[in-house]
Amino acid sequence: MDHDKVSGDPYRGMSKHRITIEMLNKCKATLICPRITRLIGRNLTILVYHRVSEYKQSCPFDHNLISASPEAFEEQVKYLKANYDCMDFGTLSEILKGDLKFRGNALIITFDDGYRDNYDNAYPILKAHGIPATIFIATQFIDKRSLFWWDRVAYTVKQFRGDSFNINGYRFELGLSSREDIINEILVILKNLDDCERQNMIEQLEQKLDVSIPQRMAETLLLTWRQICEMSEHGIEIGAHTVSHPVLHKVSQEQLIYELRESKRRIEEEIGKKVIAFSYPVNSHGGKDQVKKAVRDSGYSFATTLTHGTNKLGAMNPHSLRRLTVELSHDLDGFRAKLSFPQIIKY
Ligand SMILES: [Zn+2]
Repeated sequence: MDHDKVSGDPYRGMSKHRITIEMLNKCKATLICPRITRLIGRNLTILVYHRVSEYKQSCPFDHNLISASPEAFEEQVKYLKANYDCMDFGTLSEILKGDLKFRGNALIITFDDGYRDNYDNAYPILKAHGIPATIFIATQFIDKRSLFWWDRVAYTVKQFRGDSFNINGYRFELGLSSREDIINEILVILKNLDDCERQNMIEQLEQKLDVSIPQRMAETLLLTWRQICEMSEHGIEIGAHTVSHPVLHKVSQEQLIYELRESKRRIEEEIGKKVIAFSYPVNSHGGKDQVKKAVRDSGYSFATTLTHGTNKLGAMNPHSLRRLTVELSHDLDGFRAKLSFPQIIKY
């Protein structure tokens, strides 16, 4: 006998999170909410993606950075096009200055870091649907063709052929933890180190585990300036994400200014346009006004955080904008629920 059918409970076996999503979609709340918000017209939603790529078990890098498959991304873009007024920070600036009349459901799609699949997979979809987006670039990686530090760690641990290793007083055993768990643990340790200590620990890790990263890996993963310039000429806004992706509240004032100004200067030199938006790496304003002030003084009109939430047009701090993170685990129902009810659906 099928007990599920007898009990008649369609939510049996689902997590509370999933039940909430199902119920919000079933009662049409995710359909009605964007329409009401559009009528009220003072909401600004900013989405953050990192990579748009197929998830493969064999991915040699940090697969936590994959936000959506190309198919899921296209579904999401179609939904956004139908329900929101998609724009970039340039348009937002005109609205806030009063140069452009606006009453609607403002939304900005953003990508952090500068992954090549933004060009290969996301850009053709955005272009086909006529939807703008903003890509925040950490310039040193594009210039030096070196992997982001979290991808270096993931690659090194995934290629390691031994059973265990010690690093910085920590011991990791592959029999006890999965490679993914070890990578995540190391990344948490690294995020709490200053720049120099982080660099040292990553170099030590690569030496101890006897893994060297072939140059072609960077080419498969990173945008080039040619791709960035092409996108900039066709509806994609380019923003800055520092030079070396440090945790900004942990660096000296001198380095802070360098990271903010040099990344802006370098992008402007390449694309021939003014850069007005910035994204804090790893949410690294740390709540510190001194970091936000340095961002403003460096000529940025807007700065985005990884703090979960949406913003009220006209009543927001433009240098501390909240965003909603898009996760690979979202199906379209989960995506709609998160956008409509971010105060309830937080992951
Ligand atoms: Zn980043």
